[in-house]
Amino acid sequence: MSENQEKVIQIAGSITVDELAKALGISVTTLIGQLFKEGIVATINQRLDFDTASIIIDELELKGVRLEKKNTATKTSEVRRELSDKAVSRPPVVAVMGHVDHGKTTLLDTLLNKKTVEGEAGGITQHISAYQLKHNDRMITFLDTPGHEAFAAIRQHGAMLTDIVVIVVAADDGVKPQTVEAIKFAQGANAKIIVAINKIDREGADIPRTMADLAQNGLQPEEWGGDITMVPVSAKRGDNLDKLLDMILLTADIEELKADVEIPAEGLVIESHMEVGKGSVVNLLVTEGELKTGEFIVAGATYGKVRTMLDFRGKPKGKATPSTPVTVTGFKELPNFGDKFVEVKDEKTARKMALLNAQSAADATASANVTSTDLLRMMNTVDNTKIFNVIIKGDVLGSVTSVVDSLKLIDTKGEITLNIVATGVGDITENDVYMAAGDENTVIYGFNVTVPTNISKMAARDGVAIRTYRIIYELLDDAKRSMEDLLDAEIVETDQGEMKIKGVFRVEKSSIIAGGEMLTGKIEAGMLGRVIRKKEYIGEVEVVSVQKEKMDAKELVAGEIGGIALKTEHKVAMEVDDRLKLFTREMKKKTL
Ligand code: GDP
Repeated sequence: MSENQEKVIQIAGSITVDELAKALGISVTTLIGQLFKEGIVATINQRLDFDTASIIIDELELKGVRLEKKNTATKTSEVRRELSDKAVSRPPVVAVMGHVDHGKTTLLDTLLNKKTVEGEAGGITQHISAYQLKHNDRMITFLDTPGHEAFAAIRQHGAMLTDIVVIVVAADDGVKPQTVEAIKFAQGANAKIIVAINKIDREGADIPRTMADLAQNGLQPEEWGGDITMVPVSAKRGDNLDKLLDMILLTADIEELKADVEIPAEGLVIESHMEVGKGSVVNLLVTEGELKTGEFIVAGATYGKVRTMLDFRGKPKGKATPSTPVTVTGFKELPNFGDKFVEVKDEKTARKMALLNAQSAADATASANVTSTDLLRMMNTVDNTKIFNVIIKGDVLGSVTSVVDSLKLIDTKGEITLNIVATGVGDITENDVYMAAGDENTVIYGFNVTVPTNISKMAARDGVAIRTYRIIYELLDDAKRSMEDLLDAEIVETDQGEMKIKGVFRVEKSSIIAGGEMLTGKIEAGMLGRVIRKKEYIGEVEVVSVQKEKMDAKELVAGEIGGIALKTEHKVAMEVDDRLKLFTREMKKKTL
């Protein structure tokens, strides 16, 4: 590597201390030493996230090294292994998302009824969280979106369930807050987006305006030179739904979705519950291999033998291929939503693996990986800055921007770091509360928006603060006060005066009786004083009472002579000619 050549280190999610040291070409000890300086006690196998690694590299001042996030959020997600040349194509996994009442349910219902009638007879007997339908003799798997919260959980497991997100937008209503959220989600999950512009049979339907709305939100229609397919449909009447399905399959073809089948089955848990008489009933989505009844599977800390396996209609299924949703019984305990499942050869292996999974889950909680937030927090305890996390929701983009800009202008004198966790247009949602939960210093501010009752209940349950305002200055005042609350109180001392000691009448272990002359300021009961002898500090005292002409007095002021009774914690050997420097000491809340 020449001097001015950059060394690029790619990090997918996280990197161990050992790997990072090797990549940087420094010793593990040096790296651990640097981490220690930042307040992190790390072991060689500890994982560091991207941001932490960046901060450490900055601190090390290594020239010519650049970190790069390796994009794992592609269709071959972490759960999906490298494909062999025997991989076969698989159906796309599609999620339907969009604003409430824009027609998601109607779309799925119409599609399923239509296709079920066209295909096999029977209809849907059982509601499960995923469906399959046949179009042009090819299968498409639809996931009934379990809410963004659940999706976030799945993402945490490193799995990308959906290949394609169909965003439903009502042509008579346009882009709404949850539409924006759906777009963000799909982009975050790196799924392909197809828009269904719905309710075109409605009188107020305005397709061009809806497209313009979408374009403003980052989705450029193909018709206008962009890359997003938009299909005008009527979910209710069934108009253009075949076209929508064509587009889904076309997208799947472009993506070349494939999976291996000649390997042990694996996939994800998409729903699980207990049923009387059946025990655990678990919905799985097979992503690799073929799952058959009688096989042993492990998911998280639980395992089982597939006793029964049904397709989404509730019909027995002997074998499930990739992208197929099935309902199985046989798990000993309920696995968690989002858990990966794998097929293993026998019960003994299954039991052992489940046990190992349980242990590593326990280890993970015990020595959690270091994230940048942890690092910031640790650094904060060192330099005393605190973090104030906010989530900002506003009625329109303009108000969100001005709230954010104004918040950034609050001068925190370097003592508070304002961290804007998320911003968005629209009412406060479940997802906002979900994001805020878990960090006590997070406040959700709503500007000109409302808080649905279920959301405020959820927030109350999770201890999340939601504050709504209609006047920006009030919001800013609150933010400032909240930041001030994070500041530690400080000790403030104020000079009050000085007395020259002219006589010491009694010195005991914890008290002194003396007399003197006030040179400056005043002395009164309750004040504290430092006894100073020729610049040398002798001890601290507290004034108990003051006497003037042998009578109790409130105070002595400059020029006056009088007697004083003092209290001490340790013996202070006061002498004539000592100076008593008086002061008051208060705990004061810092202000910004
Ligand atoms: P979701 O909340 O997104 O699942 O929306 P729904 O599927 O429940 O639909 C909300 C309302 O819009 C229902 O009354 C539907 O009948 C109606 N709706 C859905 N799609 C269409 C459509 O294409 N045309 C018309 N006219 N109404 C529709």
